[in-house]
Amino acid sequence: MKIKNLQSFYALVQSLEKLPSIGKKSAEKMAYTLCVENKILGLNIAKSIQEATSKIKKCSKCGGLSEEEECQICQDEERANGELCIIAHPRDIAIIENTGSFRGKYFVLESLESVDFESLTSMILDNKIKEVIFSFSPSLANDALMLFVEDRLSALSLSFSKIAQGIPTGIGLDHIDQLSLSRAFEGRIKI
Ligand SMILES: [Zn+2]
Repeated sequence: MKIKNLQSFYALVQSLEKLPSIGKKSAEKMAYTLCVENKILGLNIAKSIQEATSKIKKCSKCGGLSEEEECQICQDEERANGELCIIAHPRDIAIIENTGSFRGKYFVLESLESVDFESLTSMILDNKIKEVIFSFSPSLANDALMLFVEDRLSALSLSFSKIAQGIPTGIGLDHIDQLSLSRAFEGRIKI
């Protein structure tokens, strides 16, 4: 039963419940912490959310996250080493960066329908890309996506590889430990 005159509390619980992997119990616990036990934390989080949602956008070149039109990696000429890593989600960039295994450029390719080949081709030509590395977790849909992209880019002289086996099927890169991801990168296989 909902207690009267606690509408704002329930509204907060309802919002928190919409977050990935947060159930009703966790949402209630979090709401209690944020607006009763630690109001300063609550207000700081509110401020951070407001700032981040207004400042963070997708980089116009790679689709990664940035507060500027172009992200730091796209601006960094030292990272034009001829390698382009294609990932399925902007957050995968931070995951791969944390492994320190890759020093090239990135391009986010979320789904078959959303592939922007014009941006992808400019990225490849502008950065003199020679090797395209797909960093997807293995799945039939991703295999199809890789084939499709490879086919569409066949006019450019590129070599294609994908991160090695050992990456479990159907899960995001965020579920893989750094060492396994590093190894998968180093042991990438030509396709
Ligand atoms: Zn970028």
